[in-house]
Amino acid sequence: MSLIVQKFGGSSVKDAEHVMNVARVVTDTYKKGNSVVVVVSAQGDTTDDLIEKAAEINGDSLASKREMDMLLASGEQISISLLAMAIQKLGYPAVSLLGWQAGFKTTSSHTWARIRKVDTSRIKQELDQKKIVVVAGFQGLSRYDDITTLGRGGSDTSAVAIAAAMHADLCQIYTDVEGVYTADPRKIKGAIKLNEISYDEMLELATLGAQVLNNRSVEMAKKYNIELEVLSSLTQKPGTIVKERPKMEKMLISGVAKDTNVARISVTCIPDKPGLAFKMFSKLSARDINVDIILQSIGRDGTKDITFTVPKDKGAEALQIIEKFANDNGTGAVHYDDKIAKISIVGAGMETHAGVASTMFEALYNRQINIQMISTSEIKVSVLIDKRDADLAVEAIHDKFFPDND
Ligand code: ADP
Ligand code: ASP
Ligand code: MG
Repeated sequence: MSLIVQKFGGSSVKDAEHVMNVARVVTDTYKKGNSVVVVVSAQGDTTDDLIEKAAEINGDSLASKREMDMLLASGEQISISLLAMAIQKLGYPAVSLLGWQAGFKTTSSHTWARIRKVDTSRIKQELDQKKIVVVAGFQGLSRYDDITTLGRGGSDTSAVAIAAAMHADLCQIYTDVEGVYTADPRKIKGAIKLNEISYDEMLELATLGAQVLNNRSVEMAKKYNIELEVLSSLTQKPGTIVKERPKMEKMLISGVAKDTNVARISVTCIPDKPGLAFKMFSKLSARDINVDIILQSIGRDGTKDITFTVPKDKGAEALQIIEKFANDNGTGAVHYDDKIAKISIVGAGMETHAGVASTMFEALYNRQINIQMISTSEIKVSVLIDKRDADLAVEAIHDKFFPDND
């Protein structure tokens, strides 16, 4: 008998028909004698709709993060109860548990909490009674007994955390595509499904915008050496295995990713003295705002400019912080632009092959797409471009690296 964790995303439970389909997948696994813990996300666009509702109250001002968590966590409460009912309707025992009931203890960083530990005693107790346990993804409880959420796409991380805490034999992430592809298969016709991918490459792809897995879930899977399988809840064909050492040869690049959740902030004429960059970025990190690409100009007249990117959904908050910094430190103007996109290529093969970046730049040049900023690491190259060019850029780059697949 194995312990299997299965996670179903919002699209897999979007309506009653899909919920019944998931119930069948889960009970098929259970019927084979396995213990099954199921993690589910909110139905369809529920989380987006809840964010809209909050915006109707708050307009452009920032809502209290504690109350956002209280609101957003309600989406998963609906889907777990419906799925438990669907499983029961098929004649199998099931119980639904909210994050706190399932033992998720998190930091108190509302809307972006990290899982500290999962106390699995309640889950184990329910499994011992032969129940299928349906857990609300994306949520937990802070040490102050407040409901927290883990950031968008966080249900993947909930699933991996349970798999790690319970030493599960298998962790399957069911979604609406058949695995991880060389680009978003909904946008790029010639995208190729990967049979396997390493944690490191998947982590980069996820961080750089390939929504199919949440990056924290991959980070956690790597840390606890949990193999993940990404597959479709509709076809259930063998999907993509995410693991430490894939058997296949290192591909030159394993994927192209697009991220439009990007905003660029430029601070001009910062006095050129030690400590100011530290001061500026530490204010952002104190508010959990991740800074990505950073560019510092060559100083002139005792000043320098710094340009950097932050997630667009944190853009307003970041801008507020930076404008205050600019005021307090006598810098020049602050510019903000969120009509940009980050396009990246990821591949372990890059480490040993020269010229990968220039091939990418050539693909962009051929379509007359201008590059605004560049950042590289051993296994990725990212460029910042105008958002209007984003889809064309992904297509051009994918065509260049995978020419025979359109
Ligand atoms: P879920 O609701 O199951 O969590 P998501 O919408 O979060 O699903 O993620 C699945 C989506 O990720 C797919 O529908 C696909 O459009 C998108 N996607 C982006 N990049 C990739 C990629 N490289 N491989 C597979 N899917 C991708
Ligand atoms: N429902 C949450 C979201 O939409 C969590 C998830 O889907 O993983 O972000
Ligand atoms: Mg998701």
